[in-house]
Amino acid sequence: MKATIVVLAGDGIGPEVTDEARKILRAVADKFNHQFDFSDQLMGGRAIDELGTSLPDATVEACKKADAVLLGAVGGPKWDDPKAQDRPERGLLAIRKALNLFANLRPVKLHPQLLSASTLKEEVLQGVDMLVIRELTGGLYFGPKKEAGEEGYEAFDTEIYTRPEIDRVVRLAADAAMGRRKKLVSVDKANVMASSRLWRRVATEVLVDYPELEVEHVLVDAMAMHLIRRPASFDVIVAGNIFGDILTDEAAMLAGSMGMLPSASLGDLYNSHKLPLGLYEPIHGSAPDIAGKGVSNPLATIMSSAMLLRHSLGLEQEADAIEAAVDAVLNEGVRTPDIAHTGSEVVGTQVMGDLVLEKLLNP
Ligand code: NAD
Repeated sequence: MKATIVVLAGDGIGPEVTDEARKILRAVADKFNHQFDFSDQLMGGRAIDELGTSLPDATVEACKKADAVLLGAVGGPKWDDPKAQDRPERGLLAIRKALNLFANLRPVKLHPQLLSASTLKEEVLQGVDMLVIRELTGGLYFGPKKEAGEEGYEAFDTEIYTRPEIDRVVRLAADAAMGRRKKLVSVDKANVMASSRLWRRVATEVLVDYPELEVEHVLVDAMAMHLIRRPASFDVIVAGNIFGDILTDEAAMLAGSMGMLPSASLGDLYNSHKLPLGLYEPIHGSAPDIAGKGVSNPLATIMSSAMLLRHSLGLEQEADAIEAAVDAVLNEGVRTPDIAHTGSEVVGTQVMGDLVLEKLLNP
């Protein structure tokens, strides 16, 4: 197979972790006889510095023509001025909008080897294997807003959801649940918010088409509690933009570190292989506190590249091979500092990438 992959390395640890994922994708291409062409494009803080905008038009064009996009992370203190015209995170929201990536998929599967890296008790964590689907292009982050301005008296954001926006993401979640353990939780705040009442109404109507699914509607505050009390009982969870944003970070801590969790953002654009043109990224940010030190964990980005192969290129066997290589390295007790514990062998970003590569080539 021939595929073009745009790499948006971004800021902070973004370039370090995408370098390791690219190394693994190159090895997959060699091993399984594919041709992957990489196209590096600017987005985020570096794009502001070099081109004066967090999302250059050339980047959007390249992404639209690609088969898939691999993103590191954007942002950092250098671009944090609240009065700035443009911010790195604007680029991120804008690329999601430009590619119409309305659903963010975050699998949270616990690697048994990392049970002790989580702050939760092992018996609570046993069997955690969930997929959290967050609506990504609507809701509170995109509605009309007012900044507080100089007087600093009033500011607001607005949550708007329409029927088609809710319908398509709930349907995608229901389809995903049908391919898993057939359990779906839809999260809202229907006891207080009008947008949530519409969410629940549309979700209920959509789910009539999926009689085999075991469905629960759960209020977001209760969900925050259930996630740490009985995480293993969940299969697929679907939520609006802000609720999904918060719950996915909470769910990330079940896995012990932000450095372990991949994600895929999918929409309704299709690539040259007639598969979804997706954007794949680790769930963590640019980690300015450790950037440039060579200690960041590249596994979330490497596993994001496995999701890229699976969802945008249909290469299931290759994706499995990457995930098996990651598992094999963890089995040997090798860890980056964020997931290290007593007795583990601690390595840096590049060595971790090299070890995964070795296991991929010699399983
Ligand atoms: P962060 O995820 O960057 O870091 C949180 C903590 O987790 C830090 O202590 C960091 O060192 C650690 N961490 C994160 N990824 C790690 C990895 N791969 N290996 C080891 N440790 C890791 O979140 P933050 O500090 O709140 O944000 C930093 C910047 O990143 C901000 O500018 C924020 O806006 C941006 N951000 C970007 C994205 C994105 O690009 N998708 C997502 C979240 C935050």
